[in-house]
Amino acid sequence: MRAFIGLGSNLANPAVQVQTAIADIEKLVAVQLINCSSLYKSPPMGPQDQPDYINAVVEIETDLSAHDLLDHLQMIELQHGRVRQRHWGERTLDLDLLVFGDSRINDARLQVPHPGIAQRSFVLYPLAEIAPELVISDLGEINTLLKHCPVDGLIRIENSEI
Ligand code: ADP
Ligand code: MG
Repeated sequence: MRAFIGLGSNLANPAVQVQTAIADIEKLVAVQLINCSSLYKSPPMGPQDQPDYINAVVEIETDLSAHDLLDHLQMIELQHGRVRQRHWGERTLDLDLLVFGDSRINDARLQVPHPGIAQRSFVLYPLAEIAPELVISDLGEINTLLKHCPVDGLIRIENSEI
């Protein structure tokens, strides 16, 4: 299955958190890393008294089920010292399963496609960078979604700035 994962961090050297999390995802059994977006910087959603975020999106190919993949992603969040604080508050690492093939999942643990995709520039722009032709279940063509999503202060980081 072709899947996309969104990464975000705003604590403890966020760029390093995101880059090492990508390496951790690549090491998962039954997961093959296909593509990585650039890193992006975005202002926080929700509480404003927290640092900016570093975000990225990766594309993988996997034989895991969506729920098994979520288990592994949550394990990686914990390994990165994620502590659940306030809603939309600061975190060392957030891993969201954005898209899982054409699947539509809506249960207590998992909503796929991830409900924030269309509104969140820090998800949509890195996703469009690596999958400009993507058509997302229920949401449609990524290019159309992009046209309706303001940049909201998102900045793409050049490699030389990391
Ligand atoms: P957010 O990412 O919205 O800031 P959290 O990461 O704290 O919030 O939310 C984690 C919860 O979201 C997990 O308990 C997980 O079961 C649930 N969840 C639902 N859908 C998804 C998804 N597509 N990817 C990741 N977590 C999801
Ligand atoms: Mg999350």
